[in-house]
Amino acid sequence: MIDLRRVDDREHLLLASYAMHSRDSAGRMRPELAHDYRGPFARDRDRVLHSSAFRRLSGKMQVFTGEMGEYHRTRLTHTFEVASVARTIARALRLNEDLTETLALVHDIGHPPYGHCGEDVLAEMLAPWGGFSHNQFAITIVTELEQRYTDFPGLNLSLEVLSGQDTRAHKAAAAVGRAPLLEVQIVDLADSIAYDAHDVDDALQMGVIEFEELSRLSLIARASRQVRDRYGTLPPNRRRQALVHELVDLQIGDLLESSMETLRVVDGQSADELRASGVRLMHSPEVAEERQELETYLFEAVYRHPRLVTVREAASGRLRELVEGLIHRPDRLPLRFRTRATEVGVARSVGDYLAGMTDRFCDTQHHYFTTHPAGPLTDW
Ligand code: MG
Repeated sequence: MIDLRRVDDREHLLLASYAMHSRDSAGRMRPELAHDYRGPFARDRDRVLHSSAFRRLSGKMQVFTGEMGEYHRTRLTHTFEVASVARTIARALRLNEDLTETLALVHDIGHPPYGHCGEDVLAEMLAPWGGFSHNQFAITIVTELEQRYTDFPGLNLSLEVLSGQDTRAHKAAAAVGRAPLLEVQIVDLADSIAYDAHDVDDALQMGVIEFEELSRLSLIARASRQVRDRYGTLPPNRRRQALVHELVDLQIGDLLESSMETLRVVDGQSADELRASGVRLMHSPEVAEERQELETYLFEAVYRHPRLVTVREAASGRLRELVEGLIHRPDRLPLRFRTRATEVGVARSVGDYLAGMTDRFCDTQHHYFTTHPAGPLTDW
């Protein structure tokens, strides 16, 4: 007798054979009793949502900083857009939406302040101590730095969430022909669908790029034609919004079409069998090529725009001073990170402290550090 209040029954009824079913989860590092009405991945999602690292995403830049306007995405709103795109795809492919949403909410949680330039500074300066990667730092956050239980650190997330975020493990698995879970692949694809579209939106709105130049790219030209066919000639603001909507729609539609084709022949296989056979979801060759063209353009025209480069150089300089300064003066770390330094070493603890900061918090701590000769900085 099927009982739709039970997560296992609901998933059995709704999900495809190759979705990650909750009943097949490898569980958690520390076993827990099942919840009455929430599955394991729904509980993971809520733990991530209520973590302090998740809240700090609102103060971390995606591409553009707070001084550049009020319109553009922060890392938090980017994360919600990724979750929205990923859930749409997961539902259409009958994959596990709870797991997909959790993976989306956690995917950028390990980003340091100041966007990619913050990551570059930490990776370079911490190279002698193992470097820095936001994907790995996300795992450090959810297994060591977040505090939820009194007797052990971390959020005790399901092992599928941890391995989904572990890009080093993906590389090792790929070497022996194993692919990540489909839910993991979807979030990765949704991430780039979301940022391709919203970076176009933000850059156009801020006047960093011009519509006429952009519409020479074939993906944009195609989306613009759709907009024109549907709405006729629109004023620039409305045209930009319609274009971005069309860009997301077009990419999701293409991904769904090619994914359904791929998955049709593996119906009946389990998630693990699919991983072992190395199945990968991807865009059609045509859209993949067009996306490549768009991303190359965005890299040159937006991410290397002089306005951004100037902001980035100043931010990198502040972060460099803090890394170097704190490695020489670990006594100025907040108590929690002085203690942590005795466990993981000074440099790693400095990296963990700085990487957890929001942009503005990093600015204020840098100001305090450079204007006061002594005294510990503040914990986040
Ligand atoms: Mg992202």
